[in-house]
Formats: sequence, C-alpha cells, structure tokens
Amino acid sequence: MHTPNSNGPLLQPRPYPSLLTLVIPMYNEGAVVPHLRSVLDEFMTEVKGETEVILVNDGSTDSTLAQIAAWAREDPRIKVVNLSRNFGHQSASTAGLDYASGDAVVLLDADLQDPVSVIHQMIARYCEGYDVVYGQRLIRQGDGIFKRLSAWLFYRLMRSLVHKDLPLDTGDFRLISRSCLDGLQQLRETHRFLRGMIAWVGYPQIAVPYQRAARVAGETKYPLRKMLTFAWTAATSFSALPLKASVWLGLIVTLFGLEEAVRAMLAHIFHWYAVPGWSSLTVLVSVLGGATLMSIGILGEYVGKIYEQAKNRPLYLVSRTFNIVEPRKHQDGAEFMTQSEYR
Ligand code: UDP
Ligand code: MG
Repeated sequence: MHTPNSNGPLLQPRPYPSLLTLVIPMYNEGAVVPHLRSVLDEFMTEVKGETEVILVNDGSTDSTLAQIAAWAREDPRIKVVNLSRNFGHQSASTAGLDYASGDAVVLLDADLQDPVSVIHQMIARYCEGYDVVYGQRLIRQGDGIFKRLSAWLFYRLMRSLVHKDLPLDTGDFRLISRSCLDGLQQLRETHRFLRGMIAWVGYPQIAVPYQRAARVAGETKYPLRKMLTFAWTAATSFSALPLKASVWLGLIVTLFGLEEAVRAMLAHIFHWYAVPGWSSLTVLVSVLGGATLMSIGILGEYVGKIYEQAKNRPLYLVSRTFNIVEPRKHQDGAEFMTQSEYR
C-alpha cells in the first residue's frame, strides 16, 4: 500500500466526475433487482454529475434479464450488456468495464452488500487525485464464521502470492479513474483476478473503510468450492510460487530419500534388521510418488493456463445490449483486427 506521503507529489486535485459509471455484474439476481432499482434511483439523484449504470447480465437463468431490460426501457441511464452465457464474475465485470464511458468508474455487486453511500466518499478521494479508491471491509454482517475465516485466510495468502500491494480485506468494490481503467484494459489475460490486476496497474491508491452489509435477497454465488477455485486462479495466474514450491518439496523429499538410502545400506552391511525394512520402503515409495504427482500436477496447471491463453479467445461474448449506442471502449483481440483496420 502506498503511504499518503509517497503519493503527495502525484496527487493532482481534479473536478467532480462529469460522468460516473457504475458497473454491476449480475448472475441470477432476480430477487435483488427491485431493491437495487430503488437504491440506485435515490443514489443517482444525490450524484452531482451525470450517472450511467452498466448492468451486465452474466447468463442468468432467472428473471434478471427481463427485469433489467424493462428497467432500461424506462430509464436511459440504465445500460444493459447481455452476455451470451455465464462467463463468471471476473469476465462479466471486465465486460462492464469495457463499455464504461465515465471519468470515474465504480465496480460493485448487485446484492447491495457494498453500500452505495460509500461511493460519495470514494468520489471525494478521487477528486483529491487518487486513481483507485477501494472499499475496505470492517466486519461482515450476516456472513457465517466459516465464510469470514475463509475470506480472512484468502486475503493473507493472496497478498504473499499475488502482489505485495494487494489491499487486505477488499473485494472488487472500488472506484477507478479513467487513466487506471485505460491501463487495466491493456491486460487481456484469460485467467483474471481483477483486484490483483488493479494492484499491478498501480497509480495512487487509497482505502475507504466501510461495513459490509448482508445480501438484501437471494443467495451467494460464491460457495466454498468457487472460493477455493478463485483463490487457486488468483495464485497461479499471478505467481510462479507454487511451481517453485514443488521444487522445494522435491528437494526435501529427495533429502529424506537419501537418508533412507544410507540407512538401508548400513542396515544391510551391519545386519541391523532381522526382517528387511518393508515399512520404510513403503513410506519412501508413497512419499516420493505423492510428491512427484503433486509437482507434475502443479506443472500441468500452468501448462493448462498457457494453453488457454494461447487460444486467445475473447473474454466474453455479448449477445445483446440495451441503451448502448457508442461502441465499446475496448475491443478484444479477436474482434480488434477487423478487415477495415488493415486497410
Ligand atoms: N456474479 C456474476 N457471475 C457469476 C457469479 C456472480 O456476475 O458467475 C455476480 C453476482 O450477481 C454479484 C457479484 O457477482 O453481483 C458477487 O457475487 P456474490 O454476491 O454472490 O458473491 P459474495 O458477495 O457472496 O462473495
Ligand atoms: Mg455478495
């Protein structure tokens, strides 16, 4: 984290954003839409400049799309990007960011766990000159002890694996400036961990503490299984530490194996055992086998990621938009080099 002092000379006060973009990924949030609508309607009256809201429907199978499309028909500030299927939270957020045209862009969850009132504080920090203002959670109301513990562990682990500047106890709830977003959009990796990528992009960053509320309706789309997958993606897409760890593990196991070999030889020479050491042999074989398989597995994880990346597929596909007239600010590689661009 930057200290305010190190940022001092970098901080250029700037005017209130004339256009503020809210980017909200949604997956089966039908139960949440009415709450979201009333909260945002009120919020938009408080904002001094203009506001646009980009709702990304991430292949919901419930009434989400119908509700937000109807909302968009009544309110031109509501823009809907409908993805062709479920691409996951990180890709859906990326899609929303690619369509954002605001001077400042806020990424938040649909379930109102991130209170919109905090956005005013974020804008104040933005006006001071900060390019990234992230919401830092104080406590989690309504989350079980297990969710809290896993989140706590997650952030500590991620910090050592992903990026030393990765802020602790933050989700994706943050405001980013146009210049930071331009930087972020140059990172088109397939396996995405937005918070880590934003930390990598840099620029003056600051936290705004807030109390994370409970979900207003519906249920979490991040059960433990997804949380672990997310942590694994974050770790292996940002750091080669797991690969290095397998080298260390291999070294330790090899030393252990050497020691066993010496022991076996001495036992043979001096006739220490009446019965040859069956158990030590079994231990050796299983330990070595396990360590080898694990290292190959980790290697395979990285090869798989390289393979996915080498295919260079677009990060998401859009099947339809509502209220969006301007073309997307960023084009994915695949669509970028159209015939006309070559001429
Ligand atoms: N989400 C999404 N695609 C997915 C899963 C989740 O767009 O595949 C959205 C979801 O609708 C919500 C946000 O990502 O707006 C965060 O999800 P959730 O609130 O379930 O996660 P939690 O807050 O429990 O970590
Ligand atoms: Mg949530």
